[in-house]
Amino acid sequence: MLTLRGRGPRRGAALSQLGIIKDGAVLVRDGRIAAVGPAPKVEKLAAARKAEKMDVAGRVVLPGFVDSHTHLIHSASRAEEYELKIQGASYEEIARKGGGILNSVKKLRAATSQQLKRRARAALELFAAHGTTTIEAKSGYGLDVASELKILSLHKELGAEQPIEIVSTFLGAHVVPVEFRNKATGSEDYVRLLTDWLIPEVSSNGLAEYCDVFCDRGAFSRAQSKQVLAAGIDHKLTPRLHAEQLSRTGATQLAVELGAASCDHLEQINGADIRALAKSNTVAALLPGCDFHLGLRQYAPARKLIETGAIVALATDYNPGTSPTMSMPMILSLACTQLRMTPAEAITAATINAAYSLGRHKRIGSLEVDKQADLAVFDVEDYREIPYYFGVNTCWLTMKGGHTIHAA
Ligand SMILES: [Zn+2]
Repeated sequence: MLTLRGRGPRRGAALSQLGIIKDGAVLVRDGRIAAVGPAPKVEKLAAARKAEKMDVAGRVVLPGFVDSHTHLIHSASRAEEYELKIQGASYEEIARKGGGILNSVKKLRAATSQQLKRRARAALELFAAHGTTTIEAKSGYGLDVASELKILSLHKELGAEQPIEIVSTFLGAHVVPVEFRNKATGSEDYVRLLTDWLIPEVSSNGLAEYCDVFCDRGAFSRAQSKQVLAAGIDHKLTPRLHAEQLSRTGATQLAVELGAASCDHLEQINGADIRALAKSNTVAALLPGCDFHLGLRQYAPARKLIETGAIVALATDYNPGTSPTMSMPMILSLACTQLRMTPAEAITAATINAAYSLGRHKRIGSLEVDKQADLAVFDVEDYREIPYYFGVNTCWLTMKGGHTIHAA
Protein backbone atom coordinates (compact mmCIF):
# COMPACT_ATOMS: atom_id res chain seq x y z
CA MET A 1 0.00 0.00 0.00
CA LEU A 2 1.38 3.37 -1.05
CA THR A 3 -0.02 5.89 1.44
CA LEU A 4 1.83 9.04 0.29
CA ARG A 5 1.39 10.10 3.94
CA GLY A 6 3.01 13.22 5.30
CA ARG A 7 3.26 16.79 4.19
CA GLY A 8 2.18 17.84 0.74
CA PRO A 9 3.16 19.21 -1.70
CA ARG A 10 6.43 17.39 -2.32
CA ARG A 11 9.64 18.85 -3.73
CA GLY A 12 13.04 17.32 -4.53
CA ALA A 13 13.92 14.11 -2.70
CA ALA A 14 10.50 14.08 -0.96
CA LEU A 15 8.90 13.10 -4.29
CA SER A 16 10.40 9.64 -3.80
CA GLN A 17 8.77 8.98 -0.42
CA LEU A 18 5.67 6.87 -0.99
CA GLY A 19 4.99 5.87 2.65
CA ILE A 20 4.81 2.18 1.78
CA ILE A 21 3.08 -0.32 4.09
CA LYS A 22 3.62 -3.98 3.24
CA ASP A 23 0.48 -6.02 3.91
CA GLY A 24 -1.49 -2.85 4.56
CA ALA A 25 -5.18 -2.32 5.23
CA VAL A 26 -7.49 0.66 5.11
CA LEU A 27 -10.72 0.97 7.08
CA VAL A 28 -13.36 3.05 5.33
CA ARG A 29 -16.38 4.57 7.06
CA ASP A 30 -18.92 7.03 5.60
CA GLY A 31 -16.73 7.58 2.57
CA ARG A 32 -13.69 8.53 4.61
CA ILE A 33 -10.57 6.74 5.80
CA ALA A 34 -11.11 5.76 9.45
CA ALA A 35 -7.81 3.90 9.83
CA VAL A 36 -4.83 2.92 7.73
CA GLY A 37 -1.82 0.78 8.66
CA PRO A 38 -0.51 -2.79 8.82
CA ALA A 39 -3.41 -5.22 8.24
CA PRO A 40 -3.10 -7.13 11.58
CA LYS A 41 -3.33 -3.83 13.47
CA VAL A 42 -6.26 -2.37 11.48
CA GLU A 43 -8.21 -5.65 11.66
CA LYS A 44 -7.97 -5.65 15.48
CA LEU A 45 -9.70 -2.27 15.81
CA ALA A 46 -13.18 -2.46 17.35
CA ALA A 47 -14.58 -0.41 14.45
CA ALA A 48 -13.17 -2.95 11.96
CA ARG A 49 -14.94 -5.98 13.44
CA LYS A 50 -18.26 -5.44 11.68
CA ALA A 51 -16.72 -4.05 8.51
CA GLU A 52 -17.27 -5.72 5.16
CA LYS A 53 -13.90 -7.12 4.11
CA MET A 54 -12.47 -6.74 0.62
CA ASP A 55 -9.38 -8.84 0.04
CA VAL A 56 -7.08 -7.47 -2.70
CA ALA A 57 -4.29 -9.89 -1.77
CA GLY A 58 -0.98 -9.40 -3.51
CA ARG A 59 -2.01 -6.25 -5.37
CA VAL A 60 -0.86 -2.65 -5.04
CA VAL A 61 -3.17 -0.03 -3.48
CA LEU A 62 -2.55 3.70 -3.84
CA PRO A 63 -4.52 6.99 -3.71
CA GLY A 64 -6.77 7.53 -6.74
CA PHE A 65 -5.01 9.59 -9.40
CA VAL A 66 -5.74 13.32 -9.55
CA ASP A 67 -5.65 14.57 -13.14
CA SER A 68 -5.06 18.32 -12.87
CA HIS A 69 -5.34 19.23 -16.59
CA THR A 70 -8.04 17.99 -18.99
CA HIS A 71 -10.25 19.42 -21.71
CA LEU A 72 -13.13 17.04 -20.91
CA ILE A 73 -15.91 18.59 -22.99
CA HIS A 74 -15.50 18.40 -26.76
CA SER A 75 -17.66 16.91 -29.45
CA ALA A 76 -15.40 14.75 -31.61
CA SER A 77 -11.91 13.36 -32.12
CA ARG A 78 -9.50 14.94 -34.61
CA ALA A 79 -8.26 11.67 -36.08
CA GLU A 80 -8.11 13.23 -39.57
CA GLU A 81 -5.55 15.77 -38.33
CA TYR A 82 -3.61 13.00 -36.62
CA GLU A 83 -3.06 11.46 -40.03
CA LEU A 84 -2.04 14.82 -41.56
CA LYS A 85 0.50 15.30 -38.77
CA ILE A 86 1.98 11.87 -39.41
CA GLN A 87 2.34 12.87 -43.07
CA GLY A 88 4.36 15.92 -42.03
CA ALA A 89 2.02 18.86 -41.35
CA SER A 90 2.86 20.67 -38.09
CA TYR A 91 0.32 21.39 -35.37
CA GLU A 92 0.62 25.13 -36.11
CA GLU A 93 0.22 24.68 -39.90
CA ILE A 94 -2.99 22.75 -39.32
CA ALA A 95 -4.21 25.45 -36.92
CA ARG A 96 -3.56 28.20 -39.50
CA LYS A 97 -5.80 26.39 -42.00
CA GLY A 98 -8.74 26.41 -39.58
CA GLY A 99 -7.97 23.03 -38.10
CA GLY A 100 -6.75 22.50 -34.57
CA ILE A 101 -8.65 24.19 -31.75
CA LEU A 102 -10.90 26.12 -34.18
CA ASN A 103 -11.97 22.84 -35.77
CA SER A 104 -13.10 21.60 -32.32
CA VAL A 105 -14.83 24.95 -31.67
CA LYS A 106 -16.89 24.65 -34.85
CA LYS A 107 -18.00 21.14 -33.93
CA LEU A 108 -18.78 21.99 -30.32
CA ARG A 109 -20.95 24.97 -31.21
CA ALA A 110 -23.04 22.68 -33.42
CA ALA A 111 -23.41 19.96 -30.78
CA THR A 112 -26.25 19.71 -28.26
CA SER A 113 -25.65 19.50 -24.51
CA GLN A 114 -26.95 15.94 -24.60
CA GLN A 115 -24.41 14.89 -27.23
CA LEU A 116 -21.57 16.55 -25.34
CA LYS A 117 -22.65 14.99 -22.10
CA ARG A 118 -22.85 11.50 -23.58
CA ARG A 119 -19.28 11.75 -24.88
CA ALA A 120 -17.97 13.19 -21.59
CA ARG A 121 -19.66 10.45 -19.54
CA ALA A 122 -17.99 7.76 -21.63
CA ALA A 123 -14.64 9.51 -21.08
CA LEU A 124 -15.25 9.76 -17.33
CA GLU A 125 -15.85 6.00 -17.17
CA LEU A 126 -12.49 5.49 -18.86
CA PHE A 127 -10.78 7.84 -16.40
CA ALA A 128 -12.19 5.73 -13.57
CA ALA A 129 -11.14 2.52 -15.33
CA HIS A 130 -7.52 3.75 -15.24
CA GLY A 131 -7.52 4.66 -11.53
CA THR A 132 -8.42 8.37 -11.68
CA THR A 133 -10.86 9.71 -9.09
CA THR A 134 -10.66 13.51 -9.54
CA ILE A 135 -10.13 15.60 -12.67
CA GLU A 136 -9.81 19.25 -13.53
CA ALA A 137 -11.80 20.19 -16.67
CA LYS A 138 -11.41 23.28 -18.82
CA SER A 139 -13.85 25.03 -21.11
CA GLY A 140 -12.31 26.57 -24.25
CA TYR A 141 -13.93 24.87 -27.24
CA GLY A 142 -16.93 27.22 -27.17
CA LEU A 143 -15.35 30.69 -27.34
CA ASP A 144 -18.65 32.52 -27.38
CA VAL A 145 -20.79 33.43 -24.39
CA ALA A 146 -23.46 30.75 -24.84
CA SER A 147 -21.09 27.91 -25.72
CA GLU A 148 -18.60 28.61 -22.92
CA LEU A 149 -21.43 28.78 -20.37
CA LYS A 150 -22.84 25.54 -21.83
CA ILE A 151 -19.52 23.74 -21.23
CA LEU A 152 -19.10 25.07 -17.69
CA SER A 153 -22.70 24.14 -16.83
CA LEU A 154 -21.97 20.62 -18.07
CA HIS A 155 -19.00 20.40 -15.67
CA LYS A 156 -21.42 21.16 -12.86
CA GLU A 157 -24.11 18.73 -14.04
CA LEU A 158 -21.65 15.91 -14.65
CA GLY A 159 -20.06 16.50 -11.25
CA ALA A 160 -23.45 15.92 -9.66
CA GLU A 161 -24.53 12.99 -11.84
CA GLN A 162 -21.52 10.67 -11.76
CA PRO A 163 -18.84 9.81 -9.16
CA ILE A 164 -15.65 11.46 -10.48
CA GLU A 165 -15.09 14.87 -8.92
CA ILE A 166 -14.77 17.62 -11.53
CA VAL A 167 -12.87 20.84 -10.80
CA SER A 168 -14.01 23.49 -13.26
CA THR A 169 -11.68 25.93 -15.05
CA PHE A 170 -12.70 28.74 -17.40
CA LEU A 171 -10.45 28.76 -20.49
CA GLY A 172 -12.22 31.35 -22.64
CA ALA A 173 -8.72 32.51 -23.65
CA HIS A 174 -7.87 29.31 -25.53
CA VAL A 175 -7.51 30.97 -28.97
CA VAL A 176 -9.17 33.99 -30.64
CA PRO A 177 -12.40 32.70 -32.26
CA VAL A 178 -12.86 32.96 -36.00
CA GLU A 179 -15.48 35.76 -35.93
CA PHE A 180 -12.92 38.10 -34.25
CA ARG A 181 -10.07 37.33 -36.64
CA ASN A 182 -10.81 39.60 -39.63
CA LYS A 183 -10.54 42.86 -37.68
CA ALA A 184 -7.26 44.53 -36.72
CA THR A 185 -8.48 44.94 -33.15
CA GLY A 186 -10.06 41.48 -33.08
CA SER A 187 -7.93 39.91 -30.38
CA GLU A 188 -8.21 43.00 -28.12
CA ASP A 189 -11.99 42.99 -28.62
CA TYR A 190 -12.16 39.33 -27.71
CA VAL A 191 -10.03 39.85 -24.57
CA ARG A 192 -12.46 42.62 -23.60
CA LEU A 193 -15.40 40.24 -24.06
CA LEU A 194 -13.67 37.87 -21.64
CA THR A 195 -12.70 40.42 -19.00
CA ASP A 196 -15.84 42.59 -19.07
CA TRP A 197 -18.49 39.98 -19.78
CA LEU A 198 -17.67 36.35 -19.49
CA ILE A 199 -15.44 36.32 -16.41
CA PRO A 200 -17.97 38.25 -14.26
CA GLU A 201 -20.76 35.98 -15.55
CA VAL A 202 -18.82 32.76 -14.86
CA SER A 203 -17.85 33.94 -11.40
CA SER A 204 -21.27 35.19 -10.29
CA ASN A 205 -22.85 31.88 -11.34
CA GLY A 206 -20.20 29.83 -9.53
CA LEU A 207 -19.31 27.97 -12.73
CA ALA A 208 -15.53 27.79 -12.24
CA GLU A 209 -12.83 27.92 -9.56
CA TYR A 210 -9.96 28.68 -11.92
CA CYS A 211 -9.21 30.86 -14.93
CA ASP A 212 -6.69 29.66 -17.52
CA VAL A 213 -5.05 31.20 -20.60
CA PHE A 214 -3.19 29.59 -23.52
CA CYS A 215 -0.24 31.99 -23.57
CA ASP A 216 1.72 31.06 -26.68
CA ARG A 217 2.55 31.80 -30.29
CA GLY A 218 -0.74 31.76 -32.23
CA ALA A 219 -2.83 32.19 -29.06
CA PHE A 220 -2.50 35.03 -26.47
CA SER A 221 0.45 37.28 -25.66
CA ARG A 222 1.91 37.65 -22.19
CA ALA A 223 0.26 41.09 -21.81
CA GLN A 224 -3.16 39.79 -22.91
CA SER A 225 -2.78 36.76 -20.62
CA LYS A 226 -2.07 39.07 -17.69
CA GLN A 227 -5.15 41.13 -18.50
CA VAL A 228 -7.40 38.03 -18.53
CA LEU A 229 -5.92 36.45 -15.42
CA ALA A 230 -6.04 39.74 -13.48
CA ALA A 231 -9.75 40.04 -14.31
CA GLY A 232 -10.14 36.45 -13.11
CA ILE A 233 -8.41 37.28 -9.80
CA ASP A 234 -10.75 40.29 -9.36
CA HIS A 235 -13.64 37.80 -9.64
CA LYS A 236 -12.16 35.17 -7.31
CA LEU A 237 -10.96 32.85 -10.08
CA THR A 238 -7.44 31.56 -9.31
CA PRO A 239 -5.05 31.59 -12.29
CA ARG A 240 -3.59 28.58 -14.10
CA LEU A 241 -1.58 28.90 -17.33
CA HIS A 242 -0.72 26.99 -20.50
CA ALA A 243 2.92 28.08 -20.63
CA GLU A 244 5.95 27.73 -22.92
CA GLN A 245 4.62 24.79 -24.94
CA LEU A 246 5.43 25.90 -28.52
CA SER A 247 7.58 28.95 -27.76
CA ARG A 248 8.97 30.77 -24.73
CA THR A 249 6.71 33.76 -23.99
CA GLY A 250 7.50 34.56 -20.35
CA ALA A 251 4.30 32.89 -19.22
CA THR A 252 6.08 31.02 -16.42
CA GLN A 253 7.34 34.25 -14.87
CA LEU A 254 3.81 35.66 -15.20
CA ALA A 255 2.35 32.60 -13.48
CA VAL A 256 4.74 32.99 -10.55
CA GLU A 257 4.14 36.76 -10.37
CA LEU A 258 0.35 36.23 -10.18
CA GLY A 259 0.59 33.32 -7.71
CA ALA A 260 -0.98 30.90 -10.19
CA ALA A 261 -2.00 27.48 -8.91
CA SER A 262 -0.20 25.83 -11.79
CA CYS A 263 1.82 26.47 -14.88
CA ASP A 264 1.43 23.70 -17.43
CA HIS A 265 3.44 22.21 -20.37
CA LEU A 266 6.87 23.94 -19.92
CA GLU A 267 8.68 22.28 -22.84
CA GLN A 268 10.46 25.57 -23.70
CA ILE A 269 11.36 26.93 -20.24
CA ASN A 270 14.85 28.19 -19.40
CA GLY A 271 16.97 28.15 -16.25
CA ALA A 272 15.54 31.40 -14.86
CA ASP A 273 12.00 30.01 -15.27
CA ILE A 274 12.96 26.83 -13.43
CA ARG A 275 14.48 28.81 -10.55
CA ALA A 276 11.39 31.04 -10.34
CA LEU A 277 9.12 27.99 -10.14
CA ALA A 278 11.34 26.37 -7.50
CA LYS A 279 11.01 29.42 -5.24
CA SER A 280 7.24 29.57 -5.69
CA ASN A 281 4.17 27.54 -4.76
CA THR A 282 3.06 27.41 -8.41
CA VAL A 283 2.93 23.78 -9.50
CA ALA A 284 4.86 22.78 -12.63
CA ALA A 285 2.37 20.46 -14.37
CA LEU A 286 4.00 18.32 -17.05
CA LEU A 287 1.97 16.85 -19.92
CA PRO A 288 4.16 14.32 -21.74
CA GLY A 289 1.14 12.80 -23.54
CA CYS A 290 1.10 15.89 -25.75
CA ASP A 291 4.68 15.55 -26.97
CA PHE A 292 4.22 11.82 -27.46
CA HIS A 293 1.02 12.16 -29.50
CA LEU A 294 2.47 14.99 -31.64
CA GLY A 295 5.65 12.99 -32.16
CA LEU A 296 7.81 15.80 -30.73
CA ARG A 297 11.28 15.13 -29.36
CA GLN A 298 11.45 17.94 -26.81
CA TYR A 299 9.90 17.08 -23.46
CA ALA A 300 9.83 19.37 -20.40
CA PRO A 301 13.02 19.32 -18.28
CA ALA A 302 11.52 17.31 -15.43
CA ARG A 303 14.83 16.34 -13.81
CA LYS A 304 16.01 19.96 -13.59
CA LEU A 305 12.63 21.02 -12.19
CA ILE A 306 12.75 18.32 -9.51
CA GLU A 307 16.40 18.88 -8.63
CA THR A 308 15.91 22.66 -8.38
CA GLY A 309 12.95 22.19 -6.04
CA ALA A 310 9.81 22.90 -8.10
CA ILE A 311 6.54 21.20 -7.18
CA VAL A 312 6.10 18.84 -10.13
CA ALA A 313 2.73 17.31 -11.12
CA LEU A 314 1.72 15.11 -14.07
CA ALA A 315 -1.56 15.22 -16.01
CA THR A 316 -3.06 13.67 -19.15
CA ASP A 317 -4.12 16.95 -20.86
CA TYR A 318 -6.96 14.81 -22.27
CA ASN A 319 -8.07 16.70 -25.40
CA PRO A 320 -8.95 15.83 -29.01
CA GLY A 321 -6.01 17.54 -30.72
CA THR A 322 -2.81 16.85 -28.86
CA SER A 323 -3.38 14.27 -26.12
CA PRO A 324 -6.36 11.94 -26.59
CA THR A 325 -5.89 9.73 -23.53
CA MET A 326 -7.61 9.22 -20.19
CA SER A 327 -4.85 6.91 -18.98
CA MET A 328 -2.74 8.23 -16.12
CA PRO A 329 -0.76 4.94 -16.08
CA MET A 330 0.31 5.68 -19.69
CA ILE A 331 1.37 9.19 -18.58
CA LEU A 332 3.42 7.58 -15.79
CA SER A 333 5.13 5.36 -18.41
CA LEU A 334 5.99 8.45 -20.49
CA ALA A 335 7.17 10.32 -17.39
CA CYS A 336 9.56 7.46 -16.62
CA THR A 337 10.96 6.83 -20.10
CA GLN A 338 10.86 10.35 -21.58
CA LEU A 339 11.03 12.72 -18.58
CA ARG A 340 13.41 10.39 -16.67
CA MET A 341 11.29 10.53 -13.54
CA THR A 342 11.41 7.45 -11.32
CA PRO A 343 8.17 5.48 -10.84
CA ALA A 344 7.93 6.84 -7.26
CA GLU A 345 8.37 10.46 -8.38
CA ALA A 346 5.78 9.98 -11.12
CA ILE A 347 3.21 8.53 -8.71
CA THR A 348 3.71 11.42 -6.25
CA ALA A 349 3.32 13.89 -9.14
CA ALA A 350 0.02 12.26 -10.15
CA THR A 351 -1.49 12.12 -6.65
CA ILE A 352 -0.58 14.47 -3.78
CA ASN A 353 1.16 17.14 -5.89
CA ALA A 354 -1.68 17.22 -8.40
CA ALA A 355 -4.18 17.45 -5.51
CA TYR A 356 -2.21 20.44 -4.19
CA SER A 357 -2.44 22.18 -7.55
CA LEU A 358 -6.24 21.89 -7.31
CA GLY A 359 -6.31 23.14 -3.69
CA ARG A 360 -7.55 19.75 -2.47
CA HIS A 361 -4.45 18.24 -0.82
CA LYS A 362 -6.07 18.29 2.62
CA ARG A 363 -8.92 16.07 1.38
CA ILE A 364 -7.46 13.84 -1.38
CA GLY A 365 -4.13 12.71 -2.85
CA SER A 366 -2.94 10.41 -0.04
CA LEU A 367 -4.29 7.59 2.13
CA GLU A 368 -4.48 9.11 5.61
CA VAL A 369 -7.04 9.17 8.40
CA ASP A 370 -9.97 11.54 7.73
CA LYS A 371 -9.17 11.90 4.06
CA GLN A 372 -11.71 10.88 1.42
CA ALA A 373 -11.56 7.14 0.60
CA ASP A 374 -10.40 7.63 -3.00
CA LEU A 375 -8.18 4.77 -4.00
CA ALA A 376 -7.00 2.64 -6.88
CA VAL A 377 -5.93 -1.01 -6.82
CA PHE A 378 -3.55 -2.27 -9.50
CA ASP A 379 -3.15 -5.91 -10.41
CA VAL A 380 0.64 -5.85 -10.08
CA GLU A 381 3.06 -7.12 -7.41
CA ASP A 382 5.32 -4.07 -7.31
CA TYR A 383 4.28 -0.42 -7.76
CA ARG A 384 7.02 0.05 -10.36
CA GLU A 385 5.06 -2.27 -12.63
CA ILE A 386 2.32 0.38 -12.96
CA PRO A 387 4.44 2.44 -15.42
CA TYR A 388 6.51 -0.58 -16.49
CA TYR A 389 3.56 -2.17 -18.30
CA PHE A 390 2.61 0.39 -20.94
CA GLY A 391 -0.40 0.48 -23.25
CA VAL A 392 -2.20 -2.12 -21.15
CA ASN A 393 -4.47 -1.37 -18.23
CA THR A 394 -3.58 -3.09 -14.96
CA CYS A 395 -6.09 -1.07 -12.89
CA TRP A 396 -8.13 -3.68 -11.02
CA LEU A 397 -10.44 -1.55 -8.88
CA THR A 398 -11.17 2.14 -8.35
CA MET A 399 -12.97 3.55 -5.30
CA LYS A 400 -14.37 7.07 -4.91
CA GLY A 401 -15.54 8.18 -1.47
CA GLY A 402 -15.74 4.54 -0.37
CA HIS A 403 -17.80 3.39 -3.39
CA THR A 404 -16.43 1.09 -6.06
CA ILE A 405 -16.67 2.96 -9.36
CA HIS A 406 -14.67 0.53 -11.47
CA ALA A 407 -13.91 -3.17 -11.10
CA ALA A 408 -11.98 -5.20 -13.67
ZN1 LIG B 1 -4.35 21.93 -22.21
